[in-house]
Amino acid sequence: MDHFDLCIVGAGVVGIAIAEVFSRREGAQASIVLLEKNARAGQEISSRNSEVIHAGLYYPPGSLKARLCREGSALLYAFCEHYSVAHRRLGKLIVAQADELLALEALAANAQHNGVHNLSWLDAVALREREPLLQAEAALFSPDTGIVDSHGLMETLLTHALDRGVTYAPRTRVLRALPLAEGFEVQTLTGSADQPYRFGCRRLVLAAGLEATALARQVEGFPETRIPSMRLLKGNYFRLGGASPFRHLVYPLPEQQRQGLGIHATLDLQGNTRFGPDVEEIAQVDYGVNPERRELFAASIRRYYPDLNAERLQADYAGIRPRLQTADGSAGDFLVLDSSHHDLPGLVSLFGIESPGLTASLALADMLAHCPDLQR
Ligand SMILES: Cc1cc2nc3c(=O)[nH]c(=O)nc-3n(C[C@H](O)[C@H](O)[C@H](O)COP(=O)(O)OP(=O)(O)OC[C@H]3O[C@@H](n4cnc5c(N)ncnc54)[C@H](O)[C@@H]3O)c2cc1C
Repeated sequence: MDHFDLCIVGAGVVGIAIAEVFSRREGAQASIVLLEKNARAGQEISSRNSEVIHAGLYYPPGSLKARLCREGSALLYAFCEHYSVAHRRLGKLIVAQADELLALEALAANAQHNGVHNLSWLDAVALREREPLLQAEAALFSPDTGIVDSHGLMETLLTHALDRGVTYAPRTRVLRALPLAEGFEVQTLTGSADQPYRFGCRRLVLAAGLEATALARQVEGFPETRIPSMRLLKGNYFRLGGASPFRHLVYPLPEQQRQGLGIHATLDLQGNTRFGPDVEEIAQVDYGVNPERRELFAASIRRYYPDLNAERLQADYAGIRPRLQTADGSAGDFLVLDSSHHDLPGLVSLFGIESPGLTASLALADMLAHCPDLQR
């Protein structure tokens, strides 16, 4: 049976970042394999998001999201600058109407607790100087929020990992993993093969995005009680035809119960504007965008951009959040389970890696590099 030092399941931005960080730290002598069920890397959550580099304003202080977003944003900007991955530090405005000023103050305080100290408060006049078409009573300006070419990022990370000897196997689905005396036997099915392929690995990382809970169930000995419940929350996007009305990213305040960040305006690197994502609970993976949601979008957007011509909104794409079940329905924290949770030394599995997972990816990979289960 072939044997690898480290097997990573899932070539989304998180799995690829883990392959990059571990291959950088451990060098070519470590044998690392990265498995992906699709024909290409990064086709799921990682290519269906807003491509925003978040600054870390929203997350509960002390949470993994708060820490890894802040650390990840710095690492990501440095990586993009060093390796010429397209990105722009556009800055973001979080706008509040008259009845939302207390909520805006609370958000500013939360950001301070998270170590984000460079926000500025804009009154209505200062806001109009920056964005004449926005209507709001006040806004917070976050200079370190930006955008990144997520595909360029993943390609660059993957190229680095491959150059350092990582074995990459697309079209390879992990079916099962069985604990051995040391490490695991992993069973996979590649392409149209009718027989599973089996290999051994000493360390195993599951970064399976939307399939995280299903895959954990295929690991023999993974306690069912430790596998979280997960919901699929679709986020639809509409693009705005024509020139962008904004120069910054524009966000309303987060939705009630923190289901989502509110239907916001982001710009891509070509300067196109898109609005979204909204929050739609779905029973199974489905990326279609219902054009009839346009009126719902228009109503939300007009709260801060009253001149919107809804005719310019076109259904675009959708992404799906792997939302972990929490008592109040709000987005929980990233969940990282190691052998202190499941008694399977050498196994680390990731759950609920929704936003800001793109921003946090390099910091999350660095954190795993310090995890006792994943030491060489
Ligand atoms: C609508 C939306 C907007 C977002 N906006 C932002 C944003 O602006 N900024 C930000 O920082 N974050 C954002 N995020 C979050 C970010 O996109 C995700 O956190 C991140 O992409 C998750 O990456 P991943 O590698 O965990 O998952 P994925 O990209 O889904 O990768 C998991 C991979 O595992 C593979 N896989 C699954 N099961 C198996 C198996 N059994 N065998 C082999 N392969 C398998 C899948 O095919 C997939 O390629 C957003 C998310 C959504 C849904």
